[in-house]
Parts: sequence; C-alpha cells; structure tokens
Amino acid sequence: MGKKFKTMDGNQAAAYVSYAFTDVAAIYPITPSSPMAEDVDVMAAKGVKNIFGQKVRLVELQSEGGAAGTVHGSLQAGALTTTYTASQGFLLMIPNLYKIAGEMLPGVFHVSARALATSTLSIFGDHQDVMAARQTGCAMFAESSVQEVMDLSAVAHLAAIKGRIPFINFFDGFRTSHEIQKIELIDYADLEKLLDADAVEKFRRNALNPDHPVMRGTATNPDVYFQIRETVNNNYEQLPDLVEEIMADVAKITGREHHIFDYSGVSDAERVIIAIGSGCQTANEAAAYLNAQGEKVGVVSVHLYRPFSVKHFLNAIPKTVKKIAVLDRTKESGAPGEPLYLDVKSAFYDSDVKPVIIGGRYGIGGKDTTPDQLLAVFEELKKDSPRNGFTIGINDDVSNKSLETTHLDVDLTPEGTTACKFWGLGSDGTVGANKSAIKIIGDNTNLYAQAYFAYDSKKSGGITMSHLRFGEKPITSPYLITKPDFVSCSQKSYVHHYNLIAGMKRGGTFLLNTDWNDEKLGKKLKPAMKKYIIANDIQVYTVNAVKIAGDLGLGGRFNMVMQAAFFKLAAIIPIDDAVGSKGQNIVDMNCAAVDAGIEALHKVDISTWDVEDTSMNQKSQQIDPPAFISDIQNVMNRQEGDNLAVSKFVGLADGTFPVGGTAYEKRGTAIKVPAWDKEKCIGCNQCSFVCPHAAIRPILTTNDELKNAPEGFESIPSKISRGAYNLTIAVSTYDCLGCGNCAQVCPKQALSMVKFDDKAKSRQKIFDFGLKVAQKANPTKKTTVIGSQFEKPLFEFSGACAGCGETPYAKLLTQLFGDRMMIANATGCSSIWGASAPAMPYTKNIFGHGPAWGNSLFEDNAEYGLGMFLGVKAVRETLASDVQKALELNISDELKDALKNWLDNRDVSENTRERADKLTEILAAQMNDDVLLNKIYNNRDFFVKRSQWIFGGDGWAYDIGYG
Ligand code: SF4
Ligand code: SF4
Repeated sequence: MGKKFKTMDGNQAAAYVSYAFTDVAAIYPITPSSPMAEDVDVMAAKGVKNIFGQKVRLVELQSEGGAAGTVHGSLQAGALTTTYTASQGFLLMIPNLYKIAGEMLPGVFHVSARALATSTLSIFGDHQDVMAARQTGCAMFAESSVQEVMDLSAVAHLAAIKGRIPFINFFDGFRTSHEIQKIELIDYADLEKLLDADAVEKFRRNALNPDHPVMRGTATNPDVYFQIRETVNNNYEQLPDLVEEIMADVAKITGREHHIFDYSGVSDAERVIIAIGSGCQTANEAAAYLNAQGEKVGVVSVHLYRPFSVKHFLNAIPKTVKKIAVLDRTKESGAPGEPLYLDVKSAFYDSDVKPVIIGGRYGIGGKDTTPDQLLAVFEELKKDSPRNGFTIGINDDVSNKSLETTHLDVDLTPEGTTACKFWGLGSDGTVGANKSAIKIIGDNTNLYAQAYFAYDSKKSGGITMSHLRFGEKPITSPYLITKPDFVSCSQKSYVHHYNLIAGMKRGGTFLLNTDWNDEKLGKKLKPAMKKYIIANDIQVYTVNAVKIAGDLGLGGRFNMVMQAAFFKLAAIIPIDDAVGSKGQNIVDMNCAAVDAGIEALHKVDISTWDVEDTSMNQKSQQIDPPAFISDIQNVMNRQEGDNLAVSKFVGLADGTFPVGGTAYEKRGTAIKVPAWDKEKCIGCNQCSFVCPHAAIRPILTTNDELKNAPEGFESIPSKISRGAYNLTIAVSTYDCLGCGNCAQVCPKQALSMVKFDDKAKSRQKIFDFGLKVAQKANPTKKTTVIGSQFEKPLFEFSGACAGCGETPYAKLLTQLFGDRMMIANATGCSSIWGASAPAMPYTKNIFGHGPAWGNSLFEDNAEYGLGMFLGVKAVRETLASDVQKALELNISDELKDALKNWLDNRDVSENTRERADKLTEILAAQMNDDVLLNKIYNNRDFFVKRSQWIFGGDGWAYDIGYG
C-alpha cells in the first residue's frame, strides 16, 4: 500500500491514534491540549469507528479532577479509557493517577506538556507538569515531533494494555501540539494488527462486575500495605522490554525505527546531549552539523522516561563517551539537579564508563530552543570543567548560569527549505490563511511542510507571527524562523514598531499590505530597515489588500488577497492550484479577491528612497516613561523580550507587575477610528460607556484651559454642568481598536468611523490634552450612565478583542469603585485582557489609588477572593480594636472624633475615603511618639473600606465586599 501523507498538528496526530484504542474519553479542556478532545469529539460525531468497531464515547466533566475520576471509574468498568490534558489541570489528576496505576489499569493520559503557573502563568510548553507526576507509578512516554506522535502514541496504548500500567504520553505543548507538519499516517487496520486481543479480553474480564464480584480500593493496615505495594515490581521491570518490542512492531509498519532511548550521532561520540521532547530534534541538527565538521558528538532522545531502564539507557550511549550534558525542560527549585539529570547520574553510578555529567535547563515556559543554544552546550562540554546547573536561551546575569551562544549565524534547516514569516494582527485572518496555505502546500505538492504560529499575549488585537517552512527534505527544525526568505506584513502600522525583516536572507522578498505609494513608504520606513533592504537586495512589494477586500464587499477579510499575493510571489505551486481550482480541501477563497490581489501586487521602486528621511515615521510619542516601561515593556512589545537579561526581572521575582502599562503602548492598529461631530452631540456619554478600551472619553474643560488647547480641539457647552464647563468627546486614536461600538450606540450619529490616517496623530494630541486638564468634580451622580463616564476609568486601553462585551463592565466597575477595589480573578478571558504581561490595563488615579488585582488558579477565584476578604477583615478588626483602645488615651477631641467616626463607619462605603483621609491627616499631626497611635497610623492603608470582587474567567463579576 502506498504511503498516505497528511498535513496535521501534534494534537491531531495524538487524537487520531488515541481514537483507535479508546472506548471512553473523559475530558476537561485546557490549553494546549483541548484540540485533542475536540478532534476526538468531531471524529465521533462523524461516525468514525475505533478498532473495536465503535464510536468513542466522549464526556466532558466539570474539572480535571472530575475527568480523572471518570477515567478511573470507566477503566474499572472495563472500558479502555483516555484523557487529554496539560499543566495544573494535569496536576489535578495526580491523586487519581496513583489509584489508576496502583490498580494496574491501562488508561492513557495524552499531555501536551505545559508550564505551571508559579509567580506568573504561562500557557506555553515545558515539562514541569509531567515531571510532577513521575512518582505516581504511571509510565511516562515522550515524543519529539508530530511524526513521532503519530508513530509512537500507539505504543503508549498498546503497552498500557499489555503491561497493565497506565501511560502518560506527552509531547511539547504548542511546539509539537500545534506545529503543523506533513506526516505519514498509520492505518487503523495496521494498528489493529498490533493489539494484544487476549490482554484486552483479560482487562475486560477483570472489570468490576456483579456477576463475579470483588472489592477494590479497600483500606489496609501497616501489617500488609507495604508488601502489597511491592507486588508490582516485576511489571515495571518488564515494561521497558515490552515497550521495545512494541516499538519494533510499529517500526515494521512505518519503516521508522525507534527505541526507548534513541541515539543519533557518530558511533564513537565523545560528547553527548541527553534530552526529552522537541529539543532533541534541534540537538540532532546541531550534532549533525558538528559531526560534518569532524567532531564526535551525539544525542540521546528519551522516549520511555518511566520506568527508567538503566540497562537500555547505558546500551544507547557510545562507550567512547567522555562528557554528557543532560537537558531538562523543567525547574525544580532547591533540588540538587533536575530529574533527568539526576536519573542519568544515578544510571552511571554502577557503570564502568564514568563520563563527566552536567545538567542544564532549557525551553522553560515555551522559550524557543534554537540550534545555537545546543551548539553552546556541545561547546561547553569541550571544557575541562564544564559548568553544571547551566541554562541556555537566556542571559542570566544574576546567578551567571547561562551559557553564551557562539553560533548565532548558523542556519541548520535542511538545504532547499524555504522559510516564510507572516506578521499579522490577531483578528485579521493571517493565521487562518496561513493554516490553509500550509495545508495547500502539504497536501497538493510533494514538498514537506511545517507551520508554527506564535502569538503575543493580547487577545485578538495582538501580534501574530506565522512561521512556514517547506522544502523537498523532511523538516526537523522545531524552532522559530530567524532567517526568512519571505516576509509578509498585513499591518502597515507595524513598520513603526518592529524590525519586520530582521535576519532576512539576501535577495529575499518583503510584502506589505498598505495604501502608501513608493515615496510615502520610503518616508515611513526606519533608516535601518531601508539600509538593510538596499544592502541585501530585498525585493519589496506592496498590495492594498484592505481596499481590494472592501471594494469586493469582503469587509475585513483582506487576508485572502494577501494569501493570493504570497502564492504569486513564492511561486511554490501554480497559482491556479493554490487558489482553488484543485480539490475540496483548498480554502474557500474568493476568486475575485485572488485575481485582484495578484493584479494589484506592486513592486516598489526603492531607488527613489532617501534612506535617512524619517519624516513620516509615526511611532507615537512616549514622554519620559518609567523605567519598567522603557527597559522591559517596550522591549517586550518590540518582540525582543528574549534579549532581556535575568537582572531586569529581579524586581518582578514574586510576580508583581506595575499597573498602568497599556497607556504607554499606543499601538495604532485600528483601520478606522471615530470622528466627533460636535454639532450633533447631545453629551449623553453613551459612546464612552460602551467603549471596551476606554479610548473615547468626555472631557470637561474651563474656558481658561481652552486657551492652551491644541489645534483642532473642539468643544460644546456642557449641559450637565449647566454651562460651567465645555464638553469634548475625545478619541485616543492610537488606543482605539476600531470596533465601531461607540458610533453604533450614539443616538445622534455624532460619531462616524473614518480612516486611520495621518490625522490620527493630531487627534491623539487632542485626547492627550484632555487627560492633562484638571480632573473636574463630577457634575452629576456617578451612579448614572452619564455621570459614570466623568470618572476616570481605572481600567484602560486593554488588549481585549475589538468590540469586547466584557471589558466595558470591568471598566465601569473601576469608575464606580476602582480606587478601593480588590479583585480575585479566575483564569480565562478576563485574566488575559486584565493581566497579560507586560502591559497592565488596570491603572491608578492621580492619588495613586486603583484596583489591586490577583489571580490564583483557573477557577478558584471564589475561594481566593474569600481568602482576600477574610485577610482584610482580620487586619481591619485588629485595627478597630486598636482604635477602640486609642479612644481611652489622653488625646484631642478632634482626633477622638475622627477615630470614633472611622470606628463607627468603618464598613460603610460611602465617604470612606474622606473619613480615612481626615483621620490620616489628624493622626499625622497629633500622634507624636505615642506607640498605639503610631501603630494605627502605620496601618492607614487599611482605613478605607475595600470594595472586594471576584471576577470569573469569562468576565462575570461578583461583589463580595458589600459595595
Ligand atoms: Fe472605543 Fe471601539 Fe469607539 Fe474605538 S471604535 S473608540 S475602540 S468603541
Ligand atoms: Fe455625543 Fe454621541 Fe457620544 Fe452621546 S454617544 S456623547 S451624542 S458622541
């Protein structure tokens, strides 16, 4: 039978294989594992049959703990049961893992391994989650590429059934789970042949069954518990050989041989790297490069990590080895070394070969692991005393553990591979277009294809970067593209912020979606970028995709036009094949858009450019930003955070981030922004009320203040202030996301959406002036729609999706209660738009007061919030008893009144700030050196009654502080 190739990601590969062996899937979704369960669900809905001729029964539980309990019960009932999970969700399953392993049940846990939330949360890949389960008695089995997930996931199921040990089958979150590769499929018919039907039969017959009842999960005493625990040793000792056998059987089908420890490199290697997961592929590339230069190095990729077979491990290592570096993608603070390193050390303890062994950490929290990092490890191993406990991929200038990279210019992707990078905005369709592009290339040509999508932390308004490679040789480069042949950018504003063509190869192609002509483009680009283009003979093309899509009635779906332009320029595949004349699987592109995109593709004449001319480079102004903004936030926002040294984060070690960062971002990503027509405005403030980003606000000014207003600042008499002030509806054009909510809600059509053009800067100045004029006392009640908007939002310019329906409520709460608010936030949308590093939208007022925000775990916000509530209550009760005692002191009537007033009204929200300020002021003047009064004064930031809230992950908010 011919080979069957398909373009898919690691999650799809795991779902496809697991489906074959699964009766029941009990799941709870968590990033980045959720697509596995979704795929299984889709397959079941389509009526796909597993190898037992049945559809998988998938059930979603209320939590990961619930999913694990269901897996346990289903296994005990005799159904082959599977789940899919990651991160802290997987950790919630640990109690059940002990039970399932203890009862020798063949469950399989597919894990797209992910970082754990510690001082900060990370959804990206590393091995902290799976390494936390290595003591449970489950076997641990790893893959390092999408093809390996296809080839080896079946081993986990087959060995679990035959070996009577549950398997944790894992691969790197995002890097493997979401990397799209053209891979070879295994037929279910072939998988079925590998199944040990007798073992399945035994498992089913051993299930709990009233026809032959037994008891499981009993309680035992010290007399027998220990002995029972020791009965399973043989199963674990035999498992590595069993897994080897099954791997050999699978290899007969696939033609790709694997072992529980895969060695690659020269047979007489002297320096060897040992690792688990996708980093092994990068290490293989680095080793091949060095061996081609006559060096003697090798790599051991660990597949079966638990049980750890010392015999197989030592057999995999060349006897010539002198030095070994063990790479762990996890961090175990306080341990003498990370887990794999310690296992390797102990494996050599009784060996005749005694190499020098060092350990290091890499790729934590999804840090990209590139060949130069691996070359640095091989380099370190050359030293007489190589450093133990090192790190790679970061610059650790605090504990000085990081290895320096020396081979930054090395490009190890296979020769003939084309590398393309696409800059997009979260909601602009670039990622979707590239997903379809890579499938078109993979499924319609003989080329191998790989795609990986990197996102920043914003919601749909953030940067996306699509990394596509294709070529005639298999692509084994699980890291981002740093040396592209082709770069496309869908957002013209990015030229002001990012070095879009960094590292581009000589003669490469740069495509920009813009309405600028050649001359204007020349004035917009930074001198460094223009110089790079000229020096490296970069071919520059523009296409006005937004206009073409608009003219064709496609609205914001201009990505189709960009995709057509890419296929035309990349010339990988005849344009007609790419755009739809072939096959069902080709994206449903609008042919007119395609034709127009190709037609409008314009080659820029760069000969007219003045390289030093920056007259139209519109990077928005940032006046004297705080050190955090200039040294950290701006660097991260330029997509250069990887270059930040550890010392920059010492102040953030406990996870504390300063508030108010979004005000400095000024991203300028809207295509259209609202323009105000003062003649029509009735000053209802509804526009401001609904804005998800606090980017449109009513500004009150005095006539005096107007004298200093910038050009174009218009106003009308403010009716609500009875003419005392002037009213201006001002737009922060660089913070607006162009959702149009304000214009839609305006009852008088006083707002129209206009193009974000060169006038945006002067409009921004109007808004900035508005923020600078003195804050006026609210001319009406803040508890009305109109009045609430005269209060400063203490939540502004969030990275929520354009038009978000959640953030206007969060913003409103901060306008009503923000200066004394505490928020216990669940994990979900509200924690992402509320607290994605580096820029925080929660902010403070001119007095420095604003919401204090914390997040514990996914959905423990109620309990976390209760803890906050009880903590504050306890401190304030102590304070109240101190104030009670202070009333007995010989103090002035004025101080006594202030203390009593505070004591009597300490839980009353209204005017709490005024009472607190007054007491603070009197205490400061009169406490002298009285110990008790000083103690009370030192707790003055507990005088104000807190407004305590729990926020749900999906934006709901609940007041637990009684106002
Ligand atoms: Fe706010 Fe949307 Fe209006 Fe922009 S268009 S000011 S983001 S409501
Ligand atoms: Fe003026 Fe319209 Fe805004 Fe009301 S919604 S304040 S009428 S611009």
